[in-house]
This record gives sequence, structure tokens and C-alpha cells, in this order.
Amino acid sequence: MTLSSDNIQEFLKSFDTILCDCDGVLWGLGNTPYENVVDCLEVLRNDFNKTIFYVTNNSILTRNNLAHKFNKLGINCEPENVVFPALAIADHLKTIGFKKKALVFGTDEYRDTLREAGVDVLEREPYPQEERFQAVIDVIQKDADQIGAVISDCDININYIEITKASNVLAKNPDCMFFVGATEKKLPLSRGITLTGPGQFTQILEDMSGRKGTVMGKPSTKMVEFIDKYHHLDPDRTLFIGDTLHQDMGTAAAAGFRSLLVLSGVSGLKETETCSEDLVPHYVVPSLGDILKCLKTNKA
Ligand SMILES: [Mg+2]
Repeated sequence: MTLSSDNIQEFLKSFDTILCDCDGVLWGLGNTPYENVVDCLEVLRNDFNKTIFYVTNNSILTRNNLAHKFNKLGINCEPENVVFPALAIADHLKTIGFKKKALVFGTDEYRDTLREAGVDVLEREPYPQEERFQAVIDVIQKDADQIGAVISDCDININYIEITKASNVLAKNPDCMFFVGATEKKLPLSRGITLTGPGQFTQILEDMSGRKGTVMGKPSTKMVEFIDKYHHLDPDRTLFIGDTLHQDMGTAAAAGFRSLLVLSGVSGLKETETCSEDLVPHYVVPSLGDILKCLKTNKA
């Protein structure tokens, strides 16, 4: 259903908590918020008393640094209100009292997120290595029995030796846990640039090891469970806002939330006509800032 001035009040009465995706919803490439987004979030928070959590598959920054980025853009946000896969993984490992080492494919700040939760992150191998197979074998064997978890996510400095090492550890040790953050295989940017998504490298790990990783990013509900653990969510009173049918509307459907698709990012209106029924959003709006336009015309 298209969100309009006719149904805006009914829409706003249908939820208390918002789980909101970031890329493609709040901003596009260049991290400049879309028109009216900052004001819209303030109106939802202050005038309608909505609690907002930002739920992204992007774990590149730490929680503090991501909240700082929000605040710099004018979006009021506490670190507790931003959630990404590295946090859910770190919390899980802390909860189960994980004591071994984690081999991590992620940025330095991703590793910091895990370390802040007490996870012992395996140091990166120096690169480049000597171009001989024996050098690879030596690295694969080093500390292999100390690794209790492999975590696969967006790693800009990903390298051949660590992929090969992780694949071997996963294949040889069925007790070694295997977590996956973001699953995207492509990260489309504007101006025709597409970055290789972390899902491509997870695929290599899965093919090489014969294992399937536990997905902690959207469309799994692990991040929703993480929020619920600390802030209790009522599924009947929660709205998920996102720009992708698969990841965002998929999470909303799996968690039993209301859903709002914004058309300012990845998925278009046409896709909602052909996707599976469970992914069809409850509401559609061209962009998040248009909620304000609906409110203004409703008042008029
Ligand atoms: Mg998005």
C-alpha cells in the first residue's frame, strides 16, 4: 500500500518502535542524508514518541564511531541505538564464554568491536607473503588448533593465505564455529561502480570447507534478537524500514514486523509485484522524507 496523506495517521498509530536500515534509506553514496530525512526522524522521535534503532549489515565502524557519524550528519542517535552484525556476533561469543581465538575477515574497527566484548582476535598475517606454497602451508598450520571461530564479513584487506587458512580450519575442525555477517555478493554504488561483496568470499569459505556459516546479518533475525535481548521488542508494534526486499523486508517478514519499503535505494516498485508474497511490504513510500510531506498535506 502506498503511504499517503490519507493513511498516514493510521500508519503512525500502528507501531511504537522503528528498526531502520541505513544505506539507501537515510543516505546514498557520499553519506549525505536524503532530503527531509533528518527532520523526519526528529518528528517521529519527538512528536510521535517513536523509539528508533538503526539496523545495518555494514559493520565497518565501531558502535561509537557509527553513532558519531549519525550525530555529525544531524541525526540524533546514541551508540545503543545502532546495531550491525559484528555486535550480534560479539554478544553471542561473550554470552557463551568463548575462550579460543577468532579468525576474522573484517576491518580493524570490526576487530575492535569483537575485542571490546573480550573476544581474542587472531592477529593478521603479514602481507605480502613469499610466493611459494610452503609459505602458505606454514601459515595454515600456525595456531590452527587455537582457532574456535571463523567470522566472515567485509574485509577490504582480505588475502589468499587467510582464506585458505580459514577454509582448512573449518574443514578439519567441526567444532570451530562459523559466522557470517553481511551476505551481499555485490555492493552497488552510484556512477556504475560495484564493489565485490563479502558474500563472494563467504562462498569460497563454504565451497572449500563444505560448511555453511550461521548468518548474523539481515535477512536473518539475529540482530533483531540482539535488540530484543536488551530493549524488548513487541513484534505487533514494531516497524521495519528498508530499501531492499530480500534483506530488509525479509527480516521484517521473518520477525513478524510491519514493514515500509522506501524506493530511494536498491529495490524498485516493480520488484514488489513479482517477489514472493512474504516479502511484499505493508507500505511503500518514494523516500523516508516523504513521510513529512504526507503529514503536511494531511494537516492541510
Ligand atoms: Mg540498505
